[in-house]
Amino acid sequence: MADSDIAPILTTRHEEAMGFFQRMVSKGLGWARKYSLFTYPYATACCGMEYMSVAASRHDISRFGAEFPRFSPRQADLLMVVGTINLKQAPILKRVYEQMCEPKWVVAFGVCASSGGFYDNYAVLQGIDRIIPVDVYIPGCPPRPEQVLDGLMMLQEKIGSQVHRIADRGQPNATAAHHERMLSAGK
Ligand code: SF4
Repeated sequence: MADSDIAPILTTRHEEAMGFFQRMVSKGLGWARKYSLFTYPYATACCGMEYMSVAASRHDISRFGAEFPRFSPRQADLLMVVGTINLKQAPILKRVYEQMCEPKWVVAFGVCASSGGFYDNYAVLQGIDRIIPVDVYIPGCPPRPEQVLDGLMMLQEKIGSQVHRIADRGQPNATAAHHERMLSAGK
């Protein structure tokens, strides 16, 4: 048998093997990442009290592996936007997001962050997804701590099912890539 007949079969098996290991690595990284979230709480308004309640002992967010708030975006991989964002703050929020390393995720905490809430006026950003990609929206004014934990578990499920690579620090996740496409299409 000529070498040219063997080569494609060997290549296919090699690719299959790489696919298998890639899937295993992705699963392992997803598992590790979803249970070791470092939160940057961008708290601006009354929802901040609910965030404190979620972090305190009764609801205890640390049970879900999201225990440590980080006040430097460079040390955080989960941006929790907690409260009303006015237009003057929008560039600051965007800069904080950009300073976080990939892979990173965003949660809109409460209706103000999700859609502007009842502040339907010229001064308030009508949803943070106008400037940064959002992975999970938590409704409520303010949301109950149970809702926040529910949202966190949804995010963990999402992280667990995403494709992870060892060297993907420069790669935006699927939500961010979709947001980028929507912004460039002007939607
Ligand atoms: S959603 Fe309600 S509780 Fe939260 S910041 Fe807005 S007004 Fe305050």
